Amino acid sequence: MTASTSSKLSMIGVVAALLCCSNAQNAFAQSNEPPDRPAVTVRGQTYTPRSILARNMGTEQDQTTAFPPHKVIGNVYYVGTKTLSAFLITTPAGHILINSTYERNVRTIEESVKKLGFKFSDIHILLGTHAHGDHQEGDALLKTLTGAQVMVMSEDVPALQAIKPGGKPHPIDRILHDGESVTLGGTTLVAHLTAGHTRGCTTWTMKAVDGGRTFNVVFACSYRSPATITPDIEKEFNRTFKVIRTLPCDVPLGDHPAQYNLAAKYARLKPGAPNPFIDPDGCWTEADIMEAMFRAQMKMTKN
Ligand SMILES: [Zn+2]
Repeated sequence: MTASTSSKLSMIGVVAALLCCSNAQNAFAQSNEPPDRPAVTVRGQTYTPRSILARNMGTEQDQTTAFPPHKVIGNVYYVGTKTLSAFLITTPAGHILINSTYERNVRTIEESVKKLGFKFSDIHILLGTHAHGDHQEGDALLKTLTGAQVMVMSEDVPALQAIKPGGKPHPIDRILHDGESVTLGGTTLVAHLTAGHTRGCTTWTMKAVDGGRTFNVVFACSYRSPATITPDIEKEFNRTFKVIRTLPCDVPLGDHPAQYNLAAKYARLKPGAPNPFIDPDGCWTEADIMEAMFRAQMKMTKN
């Protein structure tokens, strides 16, 4: 073999390798991207499984860039990124955080907490909405940095134990059951099992006092159904879509900001103007969209 044939052959090898891998990557990306059907229209907007996921997640940069930290209502603050929510609930006895998000966002959350004038090390309790990496991967690091007690819904324990960034075991200090509450410094959060998206998907509720009035705040879990709906998941969603609409609600929040239109509401946040986060009419919009999609997906599989 001459030097030139050998180099030609290795060139072919490089081209073949590139073709192989870019095709493999495309196949991987396609299989992970949800389908573009069914489509459902709710309150004049059309959604598909693909558009909902894109709306929730944004770009990789959106997932890791801090959204301006701000007060939502009473002692509830937003400290998450553009597409992954994290909520700080402050009390005189220390703070509660809902969702650590990705481990790489923990320092970003810390910065947002500081910008609001609170101490990150005062976070004594860490809660979560559901056992997916984009919401609870940072639990171990956040516990290491703050010493917070991690409290989780029992049905999500196996899935959380599988989230081990860098091999660190997922910390679990207290296991909660449907309807149980967590209290710190005069604030009580109630854990509602709203399964379907994960087995232990948890919607948190609390009362916030603002301007002498009391408001019901709902931190909703994701209600987005997976591509394959097993009979167990179908049962869970049928129960969840009933349960959530029984919760008293003035301030709807969600584990992805798009679920409660954070960007639009934040733009309306002005001194002296009514608080845009008080939105009782919008309380179940997200549930309406997700339930319509769930029913359409069920119909498609059964046909
Ligand atoms: Zn999820």
